[in-house]
Amino acid sequence: MNNSFHEIGDVIFKSENILLYPHLNMDGDAMGSAVALCIALRNLGKNCYILIEDKVADNLAFMDKGYCTSEQNIIENPDLSVSMDCGDMGRFPNRKEKFVQAPTTICIDHHRTTAEFCQYNYIDPKAAATGEIVFKLLKAMGIEITREIGEALFAAITTDTGNFQYSNTTKETHAIVAELYDAGINASQVSVNIYENNRIERLLITNRILSTLTTECNGKVAICYVTRQMLKETGALMEETEGVVQQLRAIAGVEVAVFLKEKDDTTIKVSMRSKSYVDVAAIAAELGGGGHIRAAGATINSPMAQALDTIKAHIIESLEK
Ligand code: 5GP
Ligand code: MN
Repeated sequence: MNNSFHEIGDVIFKSENILLYPHLNMDGDAMGSAVALCIALRNLGKNCYILIEDKVADNLAFMDKGYCTSEQNIIENPDLSVSMDCGDMGRFPNRKEKFVQAPTTICIDHHRTTAEFCQYNYIDPKAAATGEIVFKLLKAMGIEITREIGEALFAAITTDTGNFQYSNTTKETHAIVAELYDAGINASQVSVNIYENNRIERLLITNRILSTLTTECNGKVAICYVTRQMLKETGALMEETEGVVQQLRAIAGVEVAVFLKEKDDTTIKVSMRSKSYVDVAAIAAELGGGGHIRAAGATINSPMAQALDTIKAHIIESLEK
């Protein structure tokens, strides 16, 4: 059950020392929504930081003006923890203990698979991005959307909607973004920072990954993978494989795109995207993962060759249902 923005706002107004917890492998929405809330709370005079446990991606770093830290004791006794764009404490594994140390917890998220683990919740699977929810929360709290907050929210929304192309994009998404323009955002500049900031290694690894392409079910399923060896040979980072799965989905006739990332010998992270009718969140859930209908993921604990077989079997079964 969701709380109202007013209830959540009250809890925030009453707190002084606040830590925000975006999920691991921060994407534009996790980062943008956390940065927007962090700026807003600092503007209210709160002591607020975004606690992270991995590096901020290069194309998102432009938003971090001293908000993100991995120093857990930056606030020794927080009175509030806020999980952002994250519906599962397993997605901030090294910050769990710190998270529950605060006497009050809030979850602000839009994942359909979110199981409540906080005292206060605003979970809206219809929201295209957590950034949309943060926008509405700030408005309900009477907080001014400054240009900086607006640009972080724009970053959140443009990335989670595939730059307004995915089916999660609604009239409200555009209405919110229209209001961000009123705050003076430079959407084009934010887009250049996010989308036109690639290293050449990204192209090299993409080239290698695309050479692993196979299809199943008469071309309805496209599958690619990346191994640590491929990263080593191209000098690319795992985060530079982001976006490959969307390219697979863009192939004519493909309904389900699958991308497997080798984390270690027996840990394979699966990313799935569907185009118009397959519920990939349900397939991910069968494997202990989750996500959205058109974008979901899971972790398979087996070597790459076996993981490929496992995911193929699950998808074929789901398409035959
Ligand atoms: P991606 O493929 O970009 O890693 O993830 C796509 C979507 O699926 C994201 O919204 C993400 O939150 C969700 N997702 C990915 N991996 C997992 C997972 O292991 N567990 C859960 N619950 N959700 C995941
Ligand atoms: Mn999101």
